[in-house]
Amino acid sequence: MSDRKPILIAGAGLASLLLAQSLRLSNIPFKVFERDASFVFRAQGYRLRLSSEGLDAIQAVLDPETWKRFWEACGKTGGLGFASFNAVTGEQTEHHLAPPTLVSRQGEGKTIGISRGDMRRIFAQGCEDNIEWARHVTGYELTGDGVRAIFADGTRSVEGSLLVGGEGIYSKVAKQLSGGKLKVYDTGARGIHGQAPSTAFKGLGEGVFRLRDDTRPDGAVFIITNVRPGDMDDPDVSFGWTMGGQPGVIRAPNDDYSIVGKTAANIAKSLTKNWHPRFRPLFDEMNESEAAFWKITCSTPSGVPEWPNEPRVTVIGDAVHSMTPAGGIGANTSVRDSALLGRLLREAGGYSPEITALYEKDMRVYASEAVHESYSTAVKQFGILIDEKTSLTI
Ligand SMILES: Cc1cc2nc3c(=O)[nH]c(=O)nc-3n(C[C@H](O)[C@H](O)[C@H](O)COP(=O)(O)OP(=O)(O)OC[C@H]3O[C@@H](n4cnc5c(N)ncnc54)[C@H](O)[C@@H]3O)c2cc1C
Repeated sequence: MSDRKPILIAGAGLASLLLAQSLRLSNIPFKVFERDASFVFRAQGYRLRLSSEGLDAIQAVLDPETWKRFWEACGKTGGLGFASFNAVTGEQTEHHLAPPTLVSRQGEGKTIGISRGDMRRIFAQGCEDNIEWARHVTGYELTGDGVRAIFADGTRSVEGSLLVGGEGIYSKVAKQLSGGKLKVYDTGARGIHGQAPSTAFKGLGEGVFRLRDDTRPDGAVFIITNVRPGDMDDPDVSFGWTMGGQPGVIRAPNDDYSIVGKTAANIAKSLTKNWHPRFRPLFDEMNESEAAFWKITCSTPSGVPEWPNEPRVTVIGDAVHSMTPAGGIGANTSVRDSALLGRLLREAGGYSPEITALYEKDMRVYASEAVHESYSTAVKQFGILIDEKTSLTI
């Protein structure tokens, strides 16, 4: 008889919720602890591009009906790959085919994307009663026959059979489990995420676009945006863009990157004021309140380190392999973790002591490849450099 204590999951992000869905469908009890007060607590706006590997992992977990709903919620954008433009002159510089990792197998030559918020809501369906909000996980304690999550207010969770740390780049579970071996480096590069009514994107047309400005003396600025067909004439629909700058170019006041709204919007506007008129509406017409900074971080480029396996605790998603935005594979790798760990738990009928070691062995291989690929691309594209011995960690 397997252990029927619940599986405890820290964080209700993409990886955690897909794992929760997998456990629900396998009839394995679980509890999710999320720091935020609700799904809409902070900006969720940015869109994720999904690769064939990411889509395969999601489809392997979801039941056919939920998969159909998920697939219908995905945008399908034509013009496979990126069209790159000089942001200042407006000239097209290149058309990159999407890397093989981002060619989505059912997209009939289209780029598949979905907003992070929609993805979380679909993954969470049916799991809501097992999600506890406003639960800030700060660590864990092993009990004789299980594990408990520890919360910021000093209280403990119920006893679980296994704790899965899926609470993103600042994961305390990852730090405790690995004895500090799991590190997230601050590349020094910063970004701003913004939104504007879809009509502001009309000048670009349908496709995935990368606009790059190399004219600044302090470093390059670029944005990536995905313009879907269908909604381009509806000003009530917003599209997003993600801006990045080489280290030092984008700076929040007092280095406070939690600031959202007008301050971030004004910096984006100022950085793009000499951009070509075709691209200006993306910034002139911004929904200022939605603008948010983000830090470009990356896990250890040489790969996911080894730590002594603990059968009762493991880590998934950005908590174990955070990546730069280059390559667009962070979420795609995270959902593979959920599918793999969920399958191992299903096959064992719930917790079993060998599962975390089996999961970590496979995960280390594909996640190390993904971090390496994202990092190497970012070195070329964003001019970042990590020295694993001396670079700052977050
Ligand atoms: C602007 C941007 C664009 C991106 N574009 C792409 C893309 O196109 N394709 C792609 O594959 N990837 C992309 N990524 C990466 C992708 O978003 C991440 O890899 C993915 O969200 C990781 O999922 P996760 O579940 O591990 O973590 P998250 O989705 O970050 O979720 C972590 C959750 O844990 C919660 N939490 C945090 N701390 C605690 C705590 N102490 N206790 C409890 N809960 C906690 C958080 O509130 C959050 O809900 C992008 C990232 C950014 C920032």
